[in-house]
Amino acid sequence: MMRWAERQAAGEVIATARAMRSCGLVVGTSGNVSARVGDAVLITPSGMDYEALTPDDLCALDGGGAARGRRKPSSEAPMHLAIYAARREVEAIVHTHSTAATALACLGRGIPAFHYMVAAAGGADIRCAPYATFGSAALAAHALAALDGRRACLLANHGMIALGATLGKALALAREVENLAEQYLRTLAVGQPNLLDDAEMARVIAKFASYGQHKGG
Ligand SMILES: [Zn+2]
Repeated sequence: MMRWAERQAAGEVIATARAMRSCGLVVGTSGNVSARVGDAVLITPSGMDYEALTPDDLCALDGGGAARGRRKPSSEAPMHLAIYAARREVEAIVHTHSTAATALACLGRGIPAFHYMVAAAGGADIRCAPYATFGSAALAAHALAALDGRRACLLANHGMIALGATLGKALALAREVENLAEQYLRTLAVGQPNLLDDAEMARVIAKFASYGQHKGG
């Protein structure tokens, strides 16, 4: 049974999942969305068309992973739960196999400070976590390590994950990471970019913090 607060949050989780597809971050049913609701986590089910989702199709998980609901939770539920347990400030998570981010991840490459907007993920680079089988505890551990001090990372031979204080912020960051990955790939197709140094990235991070938002001009 879904609790009242979970039912209210379910609509927003479904809207975010559909937005992922309409903005090109997701093809088919690859990817998933979750939100923290009290002491539970609401997550999209495994392998269902986002357009067909209703609130009753979402799964509610407790911290140990026990599920309530009629559907099987996303196979990446262990990764989502590990992040919520370790990062108290995180309220929402978006995971996708978006094309450009996944292409870089298949090369085992993160995104260095080739553009100042890399700081939108919280640091001077966006790391790529080592490969581990989807849904495994090893993948959850690799993702957590790559997310240290960051709100997003790539996952080798898999995709990317973005965290936020709200579903809207997590989705916006996932779109920004995909955009940066596309720009970085295009740059690499011509040559090696000039990287910004740590002092400049520290200035950008401080500026983003003082603006109270992650978008530069
Ligand atoms: Zn995945």
